[in-house]
Amino acid sequence: MILLKDIIGHDEIIRALKGALVSGRVSHAYLFAGPRGVGKLTTAVAFARALVCSLAAGGDACGECDSCGRVKRGVHPDVRVIGPEGATVKISQVRQLSAGIRFGPAAGRWTVRIVDEADKMTAEAANSLLKTLEEPLPGVVIILVTARPQAVLQTVSSRCQHMYFQPLLKHRLVEALIRLTGAPEDEVLPAASLAGGSLGRALDLFSGGLAARDRARRIIHRLAAAGVEDALALASEAPASREETIPLLDMIILWLRDVMVYNETGDPGQLINADSRGEISILADQFTTGRLLEMIADTDRARGRLEAGANVLLALESLFLRLAGMIPDLDRQEEVV
Ligand SMILES: [Zn+2]
Repeated sequence: MILLKDIIGHDEIIRALKGALVSGRVSHAYLFAGPRGVGKLTTAVAFARALVCSLAAGGDACGECDSCGRVKRGVHPDVRVIGPEGATVKISQVRQLSAGIRFGPAAGRWTVRIVDEADKMTAEAANSLLKTLEEPLPGVVIILVTARPQAVLQTVSSRCQHMYFQPLLKHRLVEALIRLTGAPEDEVLPAASLAGGSLGRALDLFSGGLAARDRARRIIHRLAAAGVEDALALASEAPASREETIPLLDMIILWLRDVMVYNETGDPGQLINADSRGEISILADQFTTGRLLEMIADTDRARGRLEAGANVLLALESLFLRLAGMIPDLDRQEEVV
């Protein structure tokens, strides 16, 4: 069970929430905004736990009392979380949520309602919530969670205290991945480096991404000595789905980046794939920095094309031929013309 003290990063927000609880100056409504996967909902639920815990100390839940146990089992009457049912958060959900708080907390001092992906409330749902926000009830705390605060109805968001969650720093992601997966630092480093500050994405990359990393490594080795047929064969062996191909290209970029950094600095301490320095030093002998920069740019361009909906096999064939140094750069020629 995650308490406020277990939240990774967001130190100022956690301090402010604990301070509010200790002083009793808890807002009646919060808007937790920030990128996907950085811990907004986790923090909202941990704050709810702290608010309803009967033995709360220092602004955090105890994790062991009867209230904490009931929150953990999802049966505490004073903590409810709603989110989109299908594509939207519907007015019937918001009505139910508002009806439940009309009489204030059932058990302790506070009752907490959390709306996840609050930007997905329909206009009717948002207007219905607005009525509740306009007449705050004592002991009632509403937390809206969103990655797109600009899409939340202005009249709703202006009634909330805003908390902005920043992307997590890489070293915090590394710490968190080590703690959550039990893997050593050199194994979690690639996922932490690629995650763009999102712990959720880092975990996805770690679980699905290590296979992609091995695949990327094999592809680069084979492309280093490939002819046209080999390059085309590699493209047809690669995963056919867009969802798997994009992380694969991310990993190829990461390997090429490491080879380039090793070429330039000779310093294994700067490698993301630090566990593979032997292989990287061998590849570093085969490519110049200028060539590696071109390969990284080519891979990045192919990635962008895939995100824009290009055919996976065609994009990979064209990319792998180019990485193997085989064909004139058709795209660049097109750009020139
Ligand atoms: Zn407790």
